[in-house]
Amino acid sequence: MAVIGFIGLGNMGGPMAINLVKAGHTVKVFDLFPEAVDKVVTQGATAAGSAVDAAQESDVVITMLPSGKHVESLYVSSDQPLFDVVKKDVLIIDSSTIDAATAKKVSAIAAEQGLSFVDAPVSGGVAGAAAGTLAFMVGGTKDQFDQAKPILDNMGLNIFHAGPSGAGQIAKCCNNMLLSVLMAGTAEALNMGVENGLDPAVLSEIMLQSSGNNWALQKYNPYPNVMEGVPSSNDYQGGFQVDLMYKDLGLAMDISHQSGAATPMGAQAKSLYTMHKSKGNGPLDFSSIMTLYRNE
Ligand code: NAD
Repeated sequence: MAVIGFIGLGNMGGPMAINLVKAGHTVKVFDLFPEAVDKVVTQGATAAGSAVDAAQESDVVITMLPSGKHVESLYVSSDQPLFDVVKKDVLIIDSSTIDAATAKKVSAIAAEQGLSFVDAPVSGGVAGAAAGTLAFMVGGTKDQFDQAKPILDNMGLNIFHAGPSGAGQIAKCCNNMLLSVLMAGTAEALNMGVENGLDPAVLSEIMLQSSGNNWALQKYNPYPNVMEGVPSSNDYQGGFQVDLMYKDLGLAMDISHQSGAATPMGAQAKSLYTMHKSKGNGPLDFSSIMTLYRNE
């Protein structure tokens, strides 16, 4: 069992840290919000007084932070950067969703200092974090992946080696860009059918059995009350927020811009989600893009 420093105990990090405790690891936790720390400490983790305190004697350090600037600051550019205090043989796993360029840069700085840093963003949302069923997309060497996998197995079901440093973040952006495109396309098709007199449940079933079949129709129908237990049937509460999809589409557009890879559908989805967010829908589930089409 390892000594693990876990920093960033929000909606995702909190339940992920609890799963590491349940697996028998010694988990030292830190967050800027004391209430977030308390929630995890009541489940058996140890409160650290600072990020340095959580990291310096740990075999593994995991971060789950909002963005690239938080990650770079914590490890590299703050007054007491974690790269200056961690053990030389530490494995550092950043599971935050951040821009691939920062992930690569921080990993390269780690390597210069003889440290091991992998990017390992997740898919599966808050429910997956709580259930320990996340998918991890790891960017790093094969050796780093082999070292990280047994730890990530405690928090996820599918652990992928996406490729070298930064590849985890790129894979995550590709997936979420595709998800936004297929959700918007599904909403558009359902709306056109309904506006022409079709029952959304009947149309959904037809498309499910036809060539338009996709994940949104199978698991996450965006039209209210077609499917039970999904955000569209609960006023678009819970699930994966428009704010987070907007963030991920911004990261995808950065990758497109930096690499020259054409993403016309992704750019269109980014515009749609920007418009949707600008109407105050940021906190709703991303399938609420349906309401942008519905003429009510
Ligand atoms: P969150 O805002 O709930 O949690 C982030 C936590 O980091 C907060 O508690 C904040 O206090 C803490 N934090 C920020 N800077 C810190 C610092 N310097 N030291 C210690 N703690 C610090 O966010 P979340 O929903 O848990 O998401 C975390 C990451 O996971 C994001 O990058 C997000 O894009 C990604 N993600 C989220 C979801 C989701 O459904 N929520 C799904 C997949 C990926």
